[in-house]
Amino acid sequence: MKIPIARTYLTEEEIQSVQEPLRTGWLVQGPYVKEFEEKWSNFVGVQNSIAVTSCTSALHLSLAATGFKAGDTAIVPAFTWISTANVVEHLGGSVIFCDIDPVTFNIDVKQIEEKILPTTKAILPVHLFGLSADMDPIAEIANAHNLSIIEDAACGFGSRYKGKHVGALGNTGCFSFHPRKSITTGEGGMITTNDDKLASKLRELRDHGAGMSDLQRHLGPKPFLLSDHKEAGYNQRMTDIQAVLGSSQMNRAKEIIDERRKIASKYNEAFKSLDWLQIPFFSDDYDHGYQSYPCMIKTEDYSKKNIESMNLKRNNWMEMLQDHGISTRPATHSVHMLTYYKEKYLLNSQDYINSYIANECSISLPLFNGMTEEESDYVIDIVTSNNPFK
Ligand SMILES: *Cc1c(COP(=O)(O)O)cnc(C)c1O
Repeated sequence: MKIPIARTYLTEEEIQSVQEPLRTGWLVQGPYVKEFEEKWSNFVGVQNSIAVTSCTSALHLSLAATGFKAGDTAIVPAFTWISTANVVEHLGGSVIFCDIDPVTFNIDVKQIEEKILPTTKAILPVHLFGLSADMDPIAEIANAHNLSIIEDAACGFGSRYKGKHVGALGNTGCFSFHPRKSITTGEGGMITTNDDKLASKLRELRDHGAGMSDLQRHLGPKPFLLSDHKEAGYNQRMTDIQAVLGSSQMNRAKEIIDERRKIASKYNEAFKSLDWLQIPFFSDDYDHGYQSYPCMIKTEDYSKKNIESMNLKRNNWMEMLQDHGISTRPATHSVHMLTYYKEKYLLNSQDYINSYIANECSISLPLFNGMTEEESDYVIDIVTSNNPFK
């Protein structure tokens, strides 16, 4: 059996839907983008959704729209996809890394306050792998220090914190529709916000700084006049071809989340007695969206020598799984260990010890919509019968 780490699942109807905008001829930021944004706002429970080209552009525009500028600093968890940090650099700012909690893989809220500098303007909590960050203390710190909160909710589809969907908790929330995420448009992203003024600024910034979109102009009384541009904006517009695909998947939103949770519960049940494997965190305050199923080879010895040996064991274990046809990946990377950041900020791996360990010892197991019972049974069988320490 061959089981990939993830596999795109689309219904025939969803695949067919892509033809609709192609036949109408309106291909960019048109009626299907509007429909997708409306469905997204209803689902997340926010006033505004702004579709863009990726989560990375969502993060970038959010920072720009909240006034983040050259010379400012922003707090970013060290263990996340690199783009959470890159957008800070793109705007001429500097990144202040913060370590993670090794159990949740999310930013360690106890360490945030001591990192804040006079130049700090924003914090980018990440809801990694579909588990919300601990947002109440983050909101308190942000209020006390006048920081904006830009949620990296790339993996946050279906993730709730104390009953509220992520993306409705900060100044903006940023989602991804990359094929590795629970809903996909190939490439694509969405910004959510309850702040109407911020929303119109974001709409301008994604569309070259135009005060009015092409669709608004086209439907208005004077379609022949061009709009004014008060900003040097960007082009981060989503196409209707992408939007109709996202919009049609939204009709299955609950089904998509339920199916992922079902597979995760089956894994949890099968793996909870393995004393060498840490399974994804869960508690009553959090609804996990299971963008992926991140685990960790457990260790209590944090010495560099031991972590190196654990890393070898993990890699051998991944190779064994690959030999059995099961694809796995490290859950994600530690950004402070990647050359650009390591060299620019003169960082050592162990400066953020929990992120370092997660980088060396984490492993994501296959979890995707359309995974068969046979496939999940097979993963469980191979994982439970192959202890990496034996
Ligand atoms: C996937 C991901 C991103 C990037 O999303 P894109 O849509 O590919 O730009 C950013 N942050 C996190 C945590 C992610 O998982």
